[in-house]
Amino acid sequence: MTRIEMLAVGKELLIGRTLNTNANWVGARLAKLGSMLKEVTTVDDDLGEISAAFKGALERSPEFLVVVGGLGPTPDDMTLKGLAQGIGVRLVLSEAALELILEHYSARGMEGVELTPARRKIAMLPAGAEPLPNDVGTAPGVRLVLGPTVVYSLPGVPAEMRSIFTKSAEPEIRRVLGKLYRSYEKMKVEGVPESSLAPVISEELKRHPGAYIKSHPRGAREGVSSIELDVAVVGPDRESAAREGDQIAEAMARKVENLGGVVKSGRRPHQAGE
Ligand code: ATP
Ligand code: MG
Repeated sequence: MTRIEMLAVGKELLIGRTLNTNANWVGARLAKLGSMLKEVTTVDDDLGEISAAFKGALERSPEFLVVVGGLGPTPDDMTLKGLAQGIGVRLVLSEAALELILEHYSARGMEGVELTPARRKIAMLPAGAEPLPNDVGTAPGVRLVLGPTVVYSLPGVPAEMRSIFTKSAEPEIRRVLGKLYRSYEKMKVEGVPESSLAPVISEELKRHPGAYIKSHPRGAREGVSSIELDVAVVGPDRESAAREGDQIAEAMARKVENLGGVVKSGRRPHQAGE
């Protein structure tokens, strides 16, 4: 299975100032493609922390590592320096990155803008890296291949991160994943406590080891417990994924009813990426 990780950089994520919606968004996006984020690491804006976490992630040899945050011009933006330090290379001025930055300003009517140290700073990339166009903000994204791992370093601002991810990272990730289909059904189960549902889930998982069957308790109203049940199956073709998903959902529904509960089925299967 293709391993994809995220390294989120930023003190604001650790002090409760900002929720890591970037991890949430990338995770959901990858799940639609039939994959997922296998691990998310969050570190402070600190060179030692960034380089150590980066090295740690590379040791696990993920196919993709998505780094988010800390690409801007301010002193606390030190992600690329941390990555360079982690792999023992220098930061070098990228002419291609400078060009993207100048293009960004010209497109906004600021032709021939002065190349201040702050603007040059965001064009300093780890040796061997390539810049990625940022249609939303100034700092280019960065792509870097390190052995088995493709690293995408993206700005923290969610709109910029999403734009570069969709345009640059996702097509490459899709190619590596190949065509996968995901069937996903969200069921609502009422009147059965989670402790009674647990053995039913275990039974189905034994029968369908590749499936994802997860209960999310939603509390109880007037003494009747309510649980959301996710059933997801990933497969190489639409029919087999849908068939297995349906089998699980039907078996779950039957067993819940035998326990005296009620099932309300939700979404229908869809193709990965739709
Ligand atoms: P820029 O080049 O625009 O400065 P940057 O890469 O330097 O981008 P940061 O300085 O790390 O990004 O963060 C910019 C803003 O994006 C922060 O104010 C923060 O609120 C938001 N942000 C950063 N990381 C995340 C994240 N993981 N999830 C959601 N929001 C984030
Ligand atoms: Mg910044």
